[in-house]
Amino acid sequence: MEKPVGPRLFVAGDLMGDAVIVLERDQVNYLVNVLRLGAGSPVLAFNGRDGEWLCGIEPVSRKDVVLRVRRQTRPQPPQADMHCLFAPLKSARLDYMAQKAVEMGATLLQPILTRRTQVSRINTGRLVANAVEAAEQCGLLSVPPVAIEMKLERAVAARDERRLLIFCDEDAPVANPLDALLASRAAGPDQPLALLVGPEGGFDDEERRLLLAQPRIVRLSLGPRILRADTAAVAALAIVQACLGDWR
Ligand code: SAM
Repeated sequence: MEKPVGPRLFVAGDLMGDAVIVLERDQVNYLVNVLRLGAGSPVLAFNGRDGEWLCGIEPVSRKDVVLRVRRQTRPQPPQADMHCLFAPLKSARLDYMAQKAVEMGATLLQPILTRRTQVSRINTGRLVANAVEAAEQCGLLSVPPVAIEMKLERAVAARDERRLLIFCDEDAPVANPLDALLASRAAGPDQPLALLVGPEGGFDDEERRLLLAQPRIVRLSLGPRILRADTAAVAALAIVQACLGDWR
């Protein structure tokens, strides 16, 4: 069966045959005024629970449309369980980091406040909008939740120790990241993961001591150069997905 085409939209409603999906104003505007789609045009909808469904546009007034759900095109897949913990950056780079984390398969975005974090107030709604846009663009069938920011100390104290903590550490003793990660495979191929990237100013000594005292932690080197935090996040997510995640 040919791969159905059409814009992808993340919707709130339940997806089942012949259901009607009411859209947000900006989604109606996007379909009708930006893409200029008319009655019956195909749209692929997903909600993070029911898989992906082929829908058709159904006008309900001169300016409003709904989606009529037709058939499922993809079942809801299980997802590798990988949390992305990051010190928030200034707006445009934070947008970038959020989008890339979603594209790279993060299943939770957790902003972490450290002593050298550059921003104090985080626009969670903006992070969510970035996560939705990235999920729609990259073919995901769910949008990873964005958690409320948390201080590093609290995140470490609340940590589930079954979740392997991969700490991007420019002082890591093992230079080759593949060696460091593959050594942790012994704990099982599908273990839950958490990846931690520090702030532009790095972790301070006390924060590093706290992290290095943690059980089930991998200190991950990302090579001989100091990477910007958003670069480090993408590089680390790629290596982790290739070694332990859903790129295998
Ligand atoms: N400590 C850095 C310095 O000396 O300039 C500043 C932090 S770096 C800009 C931001 C974060 O990216 C770091 O906290 C670390 O988590 C990660 N990172 C950057 N380069 C890295 C590397 N070569 N290996 C591992 N992690 C790195």
